[in-house]
Amino acid sequence: VLEARSLSHAYGRTAVLHGVSLGVAPGEVVAVAGPSGSGKSTLLHLLGGLDTPTGGEILWGASRVDRLDVEARAGLRASRVGLVFQHHYLLPDLSVLDNVALPALVLGRDARERATELLVRVGLAAKADLLPNALSGGERQRAALARAMLARPAALLADEPTGSLDRVNAENVADMLLDLARTEGAAVLLVTHDERLASKADRTLHLLDGRLVTSGM
Ligand code: ATP
Ligand code: MG
Repeated sequence: VLEARSLSHAYGRTAVLHGVSLGVAPGEVVAVAGPSGSGKSTLLHLLGGLDTPTGGEILWGASRVDRLDVEARAGLRASRVGLVFQHHYLLPDLSVLDNVALPALVLGRDARERATELLVRVGLAAKADLLPNALSGGERQRAALARAMLARPAALLADEPTGSLDRVNAENVADMLLDLARTEGAAVLLVTHDERLASKADRTLHLLDGRLVTSGM
């Protein structure tokens, strides 16, 4: 459902990814590990259509994402891909519920019911009407996770989703992320330094200087 074929990327003259090929099936959880600067975030941004690769192909299902213009890609991403980062990026002036329901606005749908259901799943039903600044770090990250899953994305991409949390909260957010993605059948690609989180994935890919050490397929 999520696939990269011989993906390469350079920032200016600096090549940071070299011929990366990988595939993630529906319901599968793949972790990406590797040293700082090895290209993990770059890979995730490309797979999420946030940046255009300098070489190779990206597929969401049958759609060639790298060939789409920025606008078409953003539209497709809203319905196909959920993103979670180390920082939650919740909007400070919207309630937790409105933040979670926000992706539906892009799709022109009302999703407060689905948003409420997801908030129950991540244990935040009682905090739906609060502003994000009234939440703890772990709770904010759980809200960001609910938002990422709102549109029933076929793929969930997460870049160090537990990186800013203490051990207990990290474990909690990680378990919810995996549980939610697995029950919804999403393909998950998870960038993490956290060995415990990586060990919960179905397989782990190791990136070194922009190359996969293990096969990505
Ligand atoms: P970390 O574990 O520290 O997050 P990473 O594996 O995610 O590292 P990337 O952020 O993908 O690494 O960066 C890979 C390389 O690309 C690094 O050498 C980095 O300096 C460079 N790089 C990343 N983003 C840019 C950018 N926007 N412009 C120029 N170079 C960049
Ligand atoms: Mg990174």
